[in-house]
Amino acid sequence: MQDADILIAGAGPTGLMLAGELALAGVDVAIVERRANQDLAGSRAGGLHSRTLEVFDQRGIADRFLAEGQKAQGAGFAGVHFDLSGFPTRHPYSLGLRQNHIERILAGWVDELKVPIYRGIEVTDFAQDNTGVDVELSDGRSLRAQYLVGCDGGRSLVRKAAGIAFPGSDPTTSNLIAEAELAETPPEWGIRRDALGTHALGRVEYEIRNGEIIYADHGPVGVLVTEQHVGETTEPTLSDLSAALITVYGTDYGIHSPTSISRFTDAARQAASYRNGRALIAGDAAHVHPPDGGQGLQTGVQDAMNLGWKLAQVVKGTSPESLLDTYHAERHPIGARVLRNTMASIVLRREDERTKALRDTIAELLGMDEPRQWLAAEMSGLGIHYNLGEGHPLLGRRMPDLDLVTANGPLRLFALLHNARPVLINLDASGEFDITPWADRVQLIDAKYDGVWELPALGAVTAPTAVLVRPDGYVAWVGDRHSPGLAEALTTWFGPPAAA
Ligand SMILES: Cc1cc2nc3c(=O)[nH]c(=O)nc-3n(C[C@H](O)[C@H](O)[C@H](O)COP(=O)(O)OP(=O)(O)OC[C@H]3O[C@@H](n4cnc5c(N)ncnc54)[C@H](O)[C@@H]3O)c2cc1C
Repeated sequence: MQDADILIAGAGPTGLMLAGELALAGVDVAIVERRANQDLAGSRAGGLHSRTLEVFDQRGIADRFLAEGQKAQGAGFAGVHFDLSGFPTRHPYSLGLRQNHIERILAGWVDELKVPIYRGIEVTDFAQDNTGVDVELSDGRSLRAQYLVGCDGGRSLVRKAAGIAFPGSDPTTSNLIAEAELAETPPEWGIRRDALGTHALGRVEYEIRNGEIIYADHGPVGVLVTEQHVGETTEPTLSDLSAALITVYGTDYGIHSPTSISRFTDAARQAASYRNGRALIAGDAAHVHPPDGGQGLQTGVQDAMNLGWKLAQVVKGTSPESLLDTYHAERHPIGARVLRNTMASIVLRREDERTKALRDTIAELLGMDEPRQWLAAEMSGLGIHYNLGEGHPLLGRRMPDLDLVTANGPLRLFALLHNARPVLINLDASGEFDITPWADRVQLIDAKYDGVWELPALGAVTAPTAVLVRPDGYVAWVGDRHSPGLAEALTTWFGPPAAA
C-alpha cells in the first residue's frame, strides 16, 4: 500500500469510473474499498440508460456491457415507458444488466489500467492541510494524497468528515428488496400496485424477448415489497420480509434461504456542496433518491466522468484549482433535477383516486411528441445541458457520435475521446486552425461530416464549422476561425497557453 496523488474511498460504480478516468489521464490514483471483493449482495441497479452507454462508448468499453446485457426500451417516468427508437444516438435503448455485472466489468477495466484497489479496508477519517490530505484507515495505517474523493455511497464517511451538509426530505415509504427461494410459485410474476405502494416478484434470471421480460422457470426470486411502516432502523430480517409479503399478497409463498435482504426508502437528499477544499464527493455520496427511473448509478458514473479530467489537470498543474469549482457548478443542478424527477415519480405512483387522475393526465401529456421527447431526453441522460453561456445549441450539450471522414479515412467521433483527451474538430475544408500553444493537451482534427446535425428532443440544429469537445464529451466552444472566444475556452478548460 502506498500514497497516491488521488485517493478514492469506495469501489462502487462511481469510484471505479473515476479511477479509470484518472488512470487514463496518467494520474497516480488508488482506491480504498471496504468490501473484500467486488461481489455485491443483492440486486441494485438493473441497467444502463443511453447516455451512460455513450459515456462508456467514449472510452471504447461500451461493447463489454452490450455483450452481456439485453437491450430494451427501459426509460420511463411514473409508469409511462418511452420508446427511444428514433432518438439520434447509437444507443436508443436501455441495457438490462444487473449492477453486480456492471461493477465486475468496470473493475476489469480499472484493473487493466493498473489502478491499485486496497480491499477489505475502510476510510475512517481524514484531515486536510494546504498541500494534501492524510487519510486514516481501519487497519490503523494512513495514506497521504493531494485529494480525497468520497465515492463511498449514501452514508458517506468522507461527506460527513468533510462537514458537508446533506439536506433533503425524510422517507415517506419504506421498501424491502431481497433475493430468496420461494417454496410455492406465485400465480403471477411482475409488478403489483396497491394503496400501500409498489411490489414486485420475479425470478432473478430473465430474458427480454420482443421487449417483454420472460422470467426463468427456476432459480432464486427477486422480491420488492413496500412495508406498512416507515422508520425501521434495524437490519431487515427474513421474518420482516415474510410479514411484509403476507400483508400485501396474503401469503409469503414459503419464502426461505435469502441471499440478501435490504431496505431502501424514498428519502431524497443532496449534498450542499460537492467539494470542501481537498475533499470531493461523487455518486450516492453526493445524492440519494428513490430508485424510480433507474437514475442513481447513471448519475454517479456521469459525476465521475465530469470530475476525472478536471481533477487530473489540477493535479498535473495544467489547470488552476478553480477548475474544480465547475464540477459542483455543473453536476449539482443535474443531481437536483434527478431528485426532482424521482420525487415526482414516487408521488405519481400512489394508488388513490386523485393521484390516478394526475397520473392519467401526465400519461396523456406524454402521449404528445414534444413532452415525451423532452422527458425521454431527461430520463435517458441525453438531454443533459451544462450552462456554458449563450450560443449554438451544442454548447454545453453532449457531442453526438458522428461518422467523420478524415485524411486517414472514416472515423467515429467517439474514437477521438477514447484516451480522454480534448479535441478541436475543424469541419471547414477551406481553412485551418492554429492551436500550437495547447497542442500538448488538445488534439486538432480536420474532418468532413455530411449528415444532419440532430440533438435529442431539440431536433435539427445548424451545422457548426468547428467544435471544441471536452474529454467528457461535452461541447465547450462552437465557432469558426474568425469567431471570438476559442483561446479563452481553451484556457478556461485546458489551462493557459504554453510559452512559445
Ligand atoms: C433497490 C435499488 C434499486 C436501484 N436501481 C437502480 C437502477 O435501476 N438504475 C440506477 O442507475 N441506479 C439504481 N440504484 C442506485 C444505485 O445502486 C446507486 O446509485 C449506485 O450503486 C451508486 O454507486 P456509488 O458508487 O456512488 O455508491 P455505492 O454503490 O454505494 O458504492 C459505494 C462503495 O463504497 C464502499 N464504502 C463505503 N464506505 C466506505 C468507507 N468508509 N471506506 C471505503 N469504502 C467504503 C462500499 O463498500 C461500496 O463499494 C438502485 C438502488 C437501489 C437500492
